[in-house]
Amino acid sequence: MATPCATLGETLEQQRLRALYLTAMRKRFKAEINRFTSGAMADRLSGQSDVADLNFLMSYVHGYHWLRHNVHEDYRAELLEPFVKTKQGFLMRLLHQSPAIDVFLRGYIEHWVAAPAEAPIQRNQCLALLASAGGDPDRLISRILALWGQIDPFTSSYAVAYRDLARDERARYAGLLGPEDQQRLALVDALPNPPEAVDAFTFPKLGLIPAMGCPQTCRHCMFIWRPLMKDTPDPQPLLDQVNRLTRSVLFTGGDLSRKLDSFYQAMATMSEVSTFAILLNGDFADNPEVTRATLDAMAAALNRRPRHWAPARVLLQISFDEFHQEVVIDRHGRLKERIPIYKIANIVEAAPRYGDKIQLCLLHKQNALNFSMDLFKQGVVERLVSELGERGHRVEILSAAPSSRTKRNPLKPEQTAAPVVKDASFVLSRYPNRPILFTSSTIDAFGRAQLLDETEAVRERDLLQQLLNGHGAGGETFDIDLMFWFNGWATLFSAVHICLGNVYDDGMETVLRRQRKDPLSRALQRFDLRLLDFYRERADDLDEIIARSTGPHHLFHTITEQPAMRLHMTERLLAA
Ligand code: SF4
Repeated sequence: MATPCATLGETLEQQRLRALYLTAMRKRFKAEINRFTSGAMADRLSGQSDVADLNFLMSYVHGYHWLRHNVHEDYRAELLEPFVKTKQGFLMRLLHQSPAIDVFLRGYIEHWVAAPAEAPIQRNQCLALLASAGGDPDRLISRILALWGQIDPFTSSYAVAYRDLARDERARYAGLLGPEDQQRLALVDALPNPPEAVDAFTFPKLGLIPAMGCPQTCRHCMFIWRPLMKDTPDPQPLLDQVNRLTRSVLFTGGDLSRKLDSFYQAMATMSEVSTFAILLNGDFADNPEVTRATLDAMAAALNRRPRHWAPARVLLQISFDEFHQEVVIDRHGRLKERIPIYKIANIVEAAPRYGDKIQLCLLHKQNALNFSMDLFKQGVVERLVSELGERGHRVEILSAAPSSRTKRNPLKPEQTAAPVVKDASFVLSRYPNRPILFTSSTIDAFGRAQLLDETEAVRERDLLQQLLNGHGAGGETFDIDLMFWFNGWATLFSAVHICLGNVYDDGMETVLRRQRKDPLSRALQRFDLRLLDFYRERADDLDEIIARSTGPHHLFHTITEQPAMRLHMTERLLAA
C-alpha cells in the first residue's frame, strides 16, 4: 500500500507535470492556429475564390481536429481555459464542447448570425459564406466538410501513421545489399583502384553500431523500425581494424544504455583511438548511484589502457531537448516525462567529477527558442537549471556561439532568417573548471519527425532552396564517413540505407576502396544536383519530394532510398 508521503509526492509530481504538459500543448495549439490563420490555410485553399472568407473558419476547423489528434480529452478544457477569456472565448467553448465537427460549425454560424453588426470581421466573413450557400447553414456546413476532406492531415491516428512508416522503413532495410545493391557494388568494384591503400587514420571519425533498438518513442526520432542484430560476432576483430583507421569513434544506434560492454571493450583495446564518443539518451541515470556507477565503468575502462597508449577520453553525448524530455501520457493515463529531467541532472551533476576523462556534451534540437538567449531561460534548459538549482547548483553560461548560417524561426517564418544559438558551454559553479558542452542541430523530417507540427523544429528549407538555385550548400556536406554495424554492414553517417558491403563477407579493404571509388557516395557528399535529373528519369514525384523536404540532407536521402534508384544513379554517374 502506498504511504501517505508517497501519495502526496506522486500528487505533487503529477501537478508539476500537468503544468508542463498544458504549457507545452498550449504553445503548440497557439502556434498551429497562428500558422494557419496567417497563411498556411490560405495556401491550402488557394483554389477557392472566397479563400479570404474561408481562412479563419477553416483554420479553426483545423484547430478542432488538431486538439483531438494531439491532446488527451482529460486536458482539453484546461488547455483552452486561458483563451476563453480572450475575444475568441466563444470559439474556445465551441472547440471544447462540440461533440462533432458539424456541431462546431453550426454553433459557429449561429454565433455570427446572432452577433451585432459592429462585430469583428469574422462575422462578415461568415455571413458572406452563408450567403454563397444560399443562406442555408446545412449547405455551408456540407461545403466546409467537403473542403476539409480534401486537406485533412489527420486521417490516420499517430499509431496507424507510425505503423505505415515502420513498414516503409522495414522495406528499405530489406533492400539493403539485395540484388540491385550487389549489382551497384559490382560496378564500383570494377572501377580502377586508387593508386595507394587507405592511409592510417585517414578518417576524422568512424561510427560503430553495436545494436539498433530503443524502447522510447520520441516524436522526432528518425527510426521506427530497426533491424534486429542478434548473434553478432565478437566485435574485437572489427575494433582492431577500425583502430588503425581513425583517432575518433562514435558508438551509436538507438539506446545503448544496456549494451555498453563493447564500448568498454573498445576503450580498453583500441590503442590508437583517443576520443571515444557515445550517444546515449540519458535514460540509464535512474539515480546518482547508478549514474556514478556507469561513469565509473567508463573511467575504469580508460584506466585499463596501458600508459604508453594514446591518452584517451570519453565524449559522453546525451540527448537533451523538448522531445526527449517531453511530458507525455502513459498507457495508464498518467503524465510522465519521456526521459525525466532529473536523469539529465544526475548526469550533469556527476560528469564534472571525472575531469578530463569524461567530457559531457548535451545534444539539443533547435526550435524557436534558439533564436535568442531565451533558450537558456525557458523550455527544457530552464527545467534542467531549476532541477539543478534545487540540488544547490548554480549554472553559469560560459559561452554561446551563433550558427554560421541564418535560419528561419518556425514560429515566425515570414521574418528574415537569423542566426540561432548553436553551440554553448556552461559550468556548475561548484566545478568552475569543468565546462559542459551544449550543441544543437536541426531535425529533418525522417521517420516519426514527418508528423511533427511545422512550428516545432527549425528546418533547413532556405538552405535547400539556395542549393536548388545553384548556389551550393554553404559548406554543408552529406557525411560519407563510415558507420560499422556489428553485423558487418558498412553504411554512411548521413545515410544508413547506403551500404558499401559487409566487412565480414567482403573484407575491410574492399569496403574502404568502395568508399573512395563509389560515384554515388561522392555525388551525395557534394549534393550533386545531377542526381535530381537522374531521379526524374525513373520517377515522377520529385517535385512532391522537394516540396516536403526539410533540407538538403533530407532531399538527397529520400531520392536514394530505393535500391533500383541507387543502381540507376550509379550507372548514370559512371556514364557521365
Ligand atoms: S530519439 Fe533517441 S531516445 Fe528517442 S526513440 Fe529515437 S533513439 Fe530512442
